[in-house]
Order: sequence, then structure tokens, then C-alpha cells
Amino acid sequence: MTLPEALTLSLIREARSRLQGDVRATPLLDSTSLSDWSGAEVRLKAEHLQRTGSFKIRGAFNRILTFDRSRIQGVVAASSGNHGQAVAYAARALGLKATIVLPHGANPLKVEAARHYGADVEFVGTTSAERLARAQALADDLHPLVAPYDDYLVMAGQGTLGLEILGQWPEVEVILVPIGGGGLISGIATAVKMTAPHVQIIGVEPEGAAKVTASLRAGRRLQLESTASVADGLRALTPGELTWPIIQQRVDDVVTVSDQAILHATQVLAERAKQVVEPSGAAALAYALSPDQPLHHKRVVALLSGGNVDWSQLMPPLRE
Ligand SMILES: *Cc1c(COP(=O)(O)O)cnc(C)c1O
Repeated sequence: MTLPEALTLSLIREARSRLQGDVRATPLLDSTSLSDWSGAEVRLKAEHLQRTGSFKIRGAFNRILTFDRSRIQGVVAASSGNHGQAVAYAARALGLKATIVLPHGANPLKVEAARHYGADVEFVGTTSAERLARAQALADDLHPLVAPYDDYLVMAGQGTLGLEILGQWPEVEVILVPIGGGGLISGIATAVKMTAPHVQIIGVEPEGAAKVTASLRAGRRLQLESTASVADGLRALTPGELTWPIIQQRVDDVVTVSDQAILHATQVLAERAKQVVEPSGAAALAYALSPDQPLHHKRVVALLSGGNVDWSQLMPPLRE
């Protein structure tokens, strides 16, 4: 197939039918405690219960299913962890080899999972730019690159979440979505604005990785020199080249949350909602629980985007 030149609703609808059977329709959970604390009616879209523990399987599977598989032997991906895990899983399911480029110091759980799915894992640098350059060098005609977000077919896969949320709760008024490179929010915002334009899409990024906030303020796509956050899936240095214009056009607002607020939300999810969610996956809820948000009395979905928690980073070591 020829590569699409834009992210459209039909691309997302095609992804939804293509993904049936391979991707779970995850539950939308309600929580009285979280609604009370936020002052909004909050429901949690449980993508931490998705196959491979994050939504990334939607985009990765959609992209790999649209390659001509008779002409390739494997796929290559660069990832902070969840995308690599998703590509490794999808490749194995489709009988392809996967090579995943991860940063030094990647979450050991995510590394282990990629290896468990049979992928070759390589460690390069610490930034997304460094590992993407390496993955591009490894990729060739027989082993194409599966980009984590800057690809319309990947975004279309993530966009199936927007259709799913609207189907589960047609009365929703606000959807809170974490932002890394922006593929997730681009897909969801497109699905939602093309079918229910009154629903507000709010992006959430960590204070220490606020590349979209900085870019919106500057009026152009900026690259941060460095990022620092407990949310390892949200630490892109810059919005994607393809996701940036979509975010500018279709996302209503972008806000930031502190690492402390993210960790608090992670803890609250475990203690109150009994949900195991990684920091990147708790950022959207962190905003709903923050003191000054304007969400009171609104019907709000907080997207829990992943559950691959590295406990050794969150908890003190156990002693005898
Ligand atoms: C990748 C990821 C995100 C961000 O998705 P982008 O498409 O890069 O914006 C959010 N949460 C989790 C758990 C992720 O793995």
C-alpha cells in the first residue's frame, strides 16, 4: 500500500477493523474516590490492561499489518520501552524478527518483556534522537522501521482509542491524554474531533519534559536540550514532525504536571482504584487530581496509558 499523507478518520476506522481480535477493548472504570477528589465525574480508560501493558500495541500492530509481509523478514524499532515491547509482540505474532533499540538504563521490566517476545535488544545512548538514529541505520528494505509516533498508520492505531472511548461513554466532555512524542494524542484528537467535536482533548506532559507546552508558546516546534521525569514514556525532546501540526490543530489545551503529582497519582491508583499503572500512565489522572484544574462537574476520562511499572525504581528495597 502507498503510505498515507495525512491522518484521517477513515484511516482510524480501517485500523479499528484491522485490529479486531489482536487488540483488547479495555474497560472504562469508574471511581467514586477519584471523582470526589477531583470534583469531576472521572472514569479511567484502562489501557494498562491492554496486551503488552500499554496502548502502543494498537499503533505497532496496525503499522506492521500494513507492510507487505511477503517482502520483509523483520522490523526495527527505537523505544523507551513500551513501543519496543509492542513491536516485539506484534512481530512475533506475525512471524517476523524484531530488533529493538533501547536507551541505556531502560526499565528492566520492559527490556525483559521485549526479549521474552523473542526480540534482539540493543542499548544506545539515553535520548530518543540517539536511539532513532541507530534504528534508522539498522533498518533496510527487508527490515523496515516501525516509528513510535511519527507515522500516520501508528497514529491511526492509537486513534482507535478515541472511537472506543466515545462508544463506551458518549456523554464524555473532556479526555485527558499524556503526551510523549504526540502520536497517542494525535490519533485520539483526530478520532474525536471528526466525530464529536465538542469533546475537549487536553494533553498532559511532565514539567521536566514540556516540549509541546514550550513549542506552543514559541509558535514553532522546539527541541528541548534535555528532559527529566519519572514518566519515562513521556520524555521525548521534541513533538514529532508529523504529530506537531495535528496537535496544534486538534488539541484544545496542553498542561503540565510535576513528578510529585505523577507519583501521587500512581500511588492513589494502586491504593484506591487497585490499578497498577506506571508513572507515564498516571500523568493524565495527576492533572485531574491537581488543585487548580477547571474540570469541576465535568464528565472526564483520564487515559491510563500503560502499566509497566519498574517496582525497583518506585519502592525502597525490602529488608529482612
Ligand atoms: C509512549 C507512551 C505514552 C506517550 O505516547 P506518544 O504517542 O509518544 O505521545 C504515554 N504513556 C505511555 C505508558 C507510553 O508508553
